[in-house]
Amino acid sequence: MAQYTPMIQQYLQVKEQYKDTFLFFRLGDFYEMFFDDALLASKELEITLTSRDGGGEERIPMCGIPFHSSANYIKNLIEKGYKVAICEQVEDPKQAKGVVRREVIQVITPGTVMEGELLDEKENNFIASLTPLDDERFVVAYNDLSTGENSVSFIRDGFDSVLSELFNRPVKEIVVPSDLQETWAEMLTQRLNVTISQEDSVDIPDESKELVQNLKQKELITGFARLFQYLARTQKRAMTHLQPVQYIELSQYMKLDMYSKRNLELTETIRKKGKEGSLLWVLDKTVTAMGARMLKKWLDRPLLSTTEMERRHQQVEGLLEQYFEREALREALKEVYDLERLSGRVAYGNVNARDLIQLKKSLHQIPEIIQVLQDFQQEELAQLADTINPLESLKEILEKSIAETPPLSIKEGDIIKDGYHEQLDQYRDASRNGKQWIAELERKEREATGIKSLKVGFNKVFGYYIEVTKANLHLIPEGRYERKQTLSNAERFITPELKEKESLILESEEKSVELEYEIFIDIREQVKTFIPELQKLAEQMSELDVLQSFAVVSDENRYTRPSFTNGHELHIENGRHPVVEQVMKDDHYVPNDVRMDENRDILLITGPNMAGKSTYMRQLALIVIMGQVGCFVPADRAELPVFDQIFTRIGAADDLVAGQSTFMVEMLEAKHALTKATENSLILLDEIGRGTSTYDGMSLAQAIVEYIHNHIHAKTLFSTHYHELTSLSDSLERLSNVHVKAEEHDGNVVFLHKIQDGAADESYGIHVAKLAELPSPLIDRAYEILNQFEHSESSRVPSANEEEQLDFFAFKEPAQKKQETENSKSVSTAEKTIMDEIKGLNMLNMTPMEAMNTLFAIQQKLNK
Ligand code: ADP
Repeated sequence: MAQYTPMIQQYLQVKEQYKDTFLFFRLGDFYEMFFDDALLASKELEITLTSRDGGGEERIPMCGIPFHSSANYIKNLIEKGYKVAICEQVEDPKQAKGVVRREVIQVITPGTVMEGELLDEKENNFIASLTPLDDERFVVAYNDLSTGENSVSFIRDGFDSVLSELFNRPVKEIVVPSDLQETWAEMLTQRLNVTISQEDSVDIPDESKELVQNLKQKELITGFARLFQYLARTQKRAMTHLQPVQYIELSQYMKLDMYSKRNLELTETIRKKGKEGSLLWVLDKTVTAMGARMLKKWLDRPLLSTTEMERRHQQVEGLLEQYFEREALREALKEVYDLERLSGRVAYGNVNARDLIQLKKSLHQIPEIIQVLQDFQQEELAQLADTINPLESLKEILEKSIAETPPLSIKEGDIIKDGYHEQLDQYRDASRNGKQWIAELERKEREATGIKSLKVGFNKVFGYYIEVTKANLHLIPEGRYERKQTLSNAERFITPELKEKESLILESEEKSVELEYEIFIDIREQVKTFIPELQKLAEQMSELDVLQSFAVVSDENRYTRPSFTNGHELHIENGRHPVVEQVMKDDHYVPNDVRMDENRDILLITGPNMAGKSTYMRQLALIVIMGQVGCFVPADRAELPVFDQIFTRIGAADDLVAGQSTFMVEMLEAKHALTKATENSLILLDEIGRGTSTYDGMSLAQAIVEYIHNHIHAKTLFSTHYHELTSLSDSLERLSNVHVKAEEHDGNVVFLHKIQDGAADESYGIHVAKLAELPSPLIDRAYEILNQFEHSESSRVPSANEEEQLDFFAFKEPAQKKQETENSKSVSTAEKTIMDEIKGLNMLNMTPMEAMNTLFAIQQKLNK
């Protein structure tokens, strides 16, 4: 290292401590990066790579960004998951002996950003820490630095649950111990695609002990401490807005594994990854950013306590019934600013006067909100009014002190009102009087000299001056002014008196700007003392906002209040899919009933592709979730049990887990359901087994249904295209068949999307082929083959109840071969080729259009 220049040595020393970050090294007006940082940053940020001599043998790669436009570059890097350490000059370069002292003043990371443009106002920005206790038990702690909220939970059932939990949150960064098992570390990176950071210090400093006052167990404290230490190490400043850590007992909330949350598209769609088309998109009629964030949190954690759910329903009902009051409440809430994040900025020291004006305006709304709440008939709402603290004294401080339309900067004055501070008023008077005197001077001098165009002006270099055009210079009495500056057609003059006034004005302005800044900091400190109350108020407003949002969607879409059964009864009358219904708008969505009870645990759904099977399944899950988060539901009537977990295997299995086959993903999702579900869970399995060969898939599907029926007793919807499975209703007493009907109208197939009891008509596919005008001998032959299948002993795998020992392969294959030889006897070779072609088609992966085209091609061949 000795060969490097002192500055590069300094750089390397700092960089050593911040290896996993981009080190932004302040040099004058630039942040410079060197060595590998420079190589990578020039690529990531598309900036020019240069080099400099640093004393070593080779030139050092270097690239830099201007300090004043650094925000965008930082944003860019953070969004890509990188961390940035800001290293500033911490002494005046003029005073420095040798290299200017530099220190890292903050590390900005994806999970700890505070800057407005890096935060999505409707989203929390969570950072988590993970602390393994043993192979099965973990502590997960969360923090959102922008709002100050902290929580911690135990996970007691293995690393899969950790993944689901972290996936559900979703977090931007995870802090782990440096000795975390490698396999776990890999899974975190692969599955969650977040920034991973390390922290091994797990003590809470005495001055922050209050944060963990609610936590009883040592493991929880340690778990949170890891996160706290990481925050302290990266932020390097007081974080007085951090709220006491809440212990969250995960078993008090409905569990949604990561597959379900994704499959059901609760907060974003699978394809576009956007909010549009998700349940959140339908339910979000919140009018504040805080409310939007709260709604998302509620959707992440549906409730299990009927008391709590009913309390929410009760309030939604109250809001729904009184339209005008609800609208008044909405209007008032619209003016309520993001109190949560504002508190964060106050504590963090990056709040400006405009924020405080917004705060004041928000506080102005509170009495109105209290008033409106009192007008509600519904008691819970009316009582809420008594619990809200309008923070009058804070409002008064802000009212008296902060100017109504302050500038963004807090260092340029004009932020404090007249009359708030005596000394400030004096400075301002001095400056105003001076300015008035100068204004007066212009009039007096014009009169004295008779020069009408004489004017008094100001510029930054020369200060105040008197300007006279060349043509009028002769009118100035000798010695009246001192010449200061010559322009092409005018001369500028000063007088000793003018300069005296000028220095008075400038001095008092400078002093008043300095004083204003001090006063502002003092007000900010006063606001700081209100942070806990502001956070409480923020929570109350967010909750109200979510409840009114539920009331608005329920009103607009005719949702009804669900009731909860203690047992296993589930009755939904005319249920609808909340999202599909919205997307279809005027096309009429066909409502469907769901009826399940003690004796009807499993519904086996058959019906053609595109009939609406998976929509029906999702619809049930979404109705359940909406009910359990406290919203009304899209149905004429809904009586529901409380579900502890929902498991799904629905829709196109895709690239969720990179490098795993579709079928493997399908099996992983099924495993999840089968190992974790209880009799109080809801399981939705759509076309399970279709990712493998027919008999293989069918056998698996049947075994899974049987397993659920005999061992789990969970309420289950199971859709399948294996028609053979419908006869399971004979052997499994709590399984019932339902089907989605399709009809023919004027030669077209029409999906009625109506679920009916019983199994689907098996010859449906042939029916469609007939409609497509395949040659009639072929159709006849198809019916014949079907008939053979139906009467063949081996068309279905025996249920586990009928036969203890199952040997699927021994059982199926000879039968299949036999069938094939029989078929081949009765058809010509050409027909055989075509039939093989048809057999080989993967109908489930074809669009109706592709199917039609294929049929057309086949028909052409046959006609030849
Ligand atoms: P399947 O799972 O049987 O292949 P889907 O559930 O994917 O069928 O439904 C196919 C399409 O049919 C959906 O995209 C939707 O537009 C429409 N659909 C489904 N259910 C209904 C319904 N109840 N009312 C109206 N249209 C529906």
